[in-house]
Amino acid sequence: MATLKYDKDGRLLFTKEMKHDYKILIPAMAPYHFEYFVHSLKSEGYDAEVIKTTDFDVIHEGMKYSHNDICVPAMLVIGQFIDYIKRHNIDKHKIAVIITQTGGGCRASNYVSLIRKAFKKANLEFIPIISVNAVGLEKNPGFRVSLTLLMKLITALMMGDLLMQLYNETAPYEKNKGETEVVYQEVNTYLNAYFYKPARRVFYHPKKLFERVIKRFSQIDVDKRVKKPKVGIVGEIYVKYSPLGNNDLEKTLRNEGCEVITPNILDFFLYTFDSSIYDIETYGGSTISKYAYKFLIKFIEHRRNKVRKQLKKYGFNVFTTYKELRKLSEGFIKKGMHVGEGWLLTAEMLELIHSGAPNIICTQPFGCLPNHIAGKGMIKKIKKAYPKSNIVPIDYDTSATEINQMNRIKLMITNAKRNLTKGDKNV
Ligand code: SF4
Repeated sequence: MATLKYDKDGRLLFTKEMKHDYKILIPAMAPYHFEYFVHSLKSEGYDAEVIKTTDFDVIHEGMKYSHNDICVPAMLVIGQFIDYIKRHNIDKHKIAVIITQTGGGCRASNYVSLIRKAFKKANLEFIPIISVNAVGLEKNPGFRVSLTLLMKLITALMMGDLLMQLYNETAPYEKNKGETEVVYQEVNTYLNAYFYKPARRVFYHPKKLFERVIKRFSQIDVDKRVKKPKVGIVGEIYVKYSPLGNNDLEKTLRNEGCEVITPNILDFFLYTFDSSIYDIETYGGSTISKYAYKFLIKFIEHRRNKVRKQLKKYGFNVFTTYKELRKLSEGFIKKGMHVGEGWLLTAEMLELIHSGAPNIICTQPFGCLPNHIAGKGMIKKIKKAYPKSNIVPIDYDTSATEINQMNRIKLMITNAKRNLTKGDKNV
C-alpha cells in the first residue's frame, strides 16, 4: 500500500508511487470517446478504466451520498464511483478517481469537492481524486498532462467525434442490419493501437488513419432514398452524451426511425478556451494564458479542417467550423453567458436548424440552472426566428419516470415525421 501524502491544506495527493500501483477510474460519459482516454493514459504508464455500470444501484448510491438538490450529472458520477468501488472485489487502497474541473461558475468546478465529501461519508476518504483542468487548479505529483498526453487526448476527442458522426450518419440507412456496428468495432481495433505508437508520431495529425476510417464507413451499403427525420440532441454535456444520464437517447431515437445528430464534443472544449479568453479580455488576467488558449483553438481547428476535407471527399456531412458556430448565436445570447454550456447550447440548436435538422431535443438535467437558461430559456426566441423548428426540452431527473420523457419525445418525432412528409423547409 502506498504511503498517503497530503498537501499543506490537508488534500490527499496522487503521488508518483501511486502512478505505478493504482488504477484510475473514469466515470462514463461519452461512449464514442472515453475508451480512447483509457488508451491515452495506459500508453503513458497509468492504469485506467471507464466505469460502465448503468443500473439502478448507481442512482441509489448517488442519491445516498450526495445532497438531493445537486445536479443530476454530479449525482450520477458520485453514484458510479461508489457503486463500482463497493461492488467490485478490488483493493480499495489501489484505486484513484479522475474528473474534469472546468473552473467556471457552475458545479462542474466543484465535482472534486463533492466527490471528496461523498467519499468521506462512505468511509473511502483514502481514495485520491485527480482533477483535470486547464486553469491550474489542484495539482498532483503523480499525474501530469504532458505534451504527449495532451496530443493524444486531442486526437482521442477528434476520433470520438468522427466515429459518433459516421455511426449516426450511416446506421439508420444501412441495408445490411448491424453492418455499421461491425465496421465500428473493426476500426476501433486499429484506432486503439494508434495510442501506443512512438511518442514522436503523436505530434503529427494521423491523417491517413482518419482517412482509412472514413473510407471504411463509406463502403457500408446504404439506402439514402429512405427519408428519415433528422433529430439533434443538444443540452448539458453529461446528459447530452451519457446513455446513463439520458436513458440511452441516441439508441431510442434510432429505434424510432430517426437519424440522430449529436454535436461534436471538441466544440465544448474550444468554447471553454474561448470563454477564458473572454474573461481575460473583460476582467483582466494572464496575457500568456490568453495567447495559449488562442493557439489551442487555432491548432485544433487546423487539424479539424483536414478531417472536414476528408469527410467531404467521401460524401459525408461536413461539420461547422467553430468560428461559424460562434457567429450563429449572435443576436440571441451574449458571449458573457458562458456558465455551463452557455451560448454554445443556443448556437448548437441554431446550427442544427441551419443544417436541415430542425427537430431538436434539448436535454436538461435536474438541478442545472445555467443550461435551463441557455437551453430551455432560449427556445421561445429561437422558435420566433424559426417558426417551423420543432424543439422539445426534456428534463432528466432520476426520480422522474421515463414514460413522461418518452411521451414528449414521441410527440416531437410525430411532428418531425409529419413535417418530413409535407417537405417543410425550416430556414
Ligand atoms: S452545467 Fe449544470 S448539470 Fe452540468 S455540472 Fe454545471 S450545474 Fe451541473
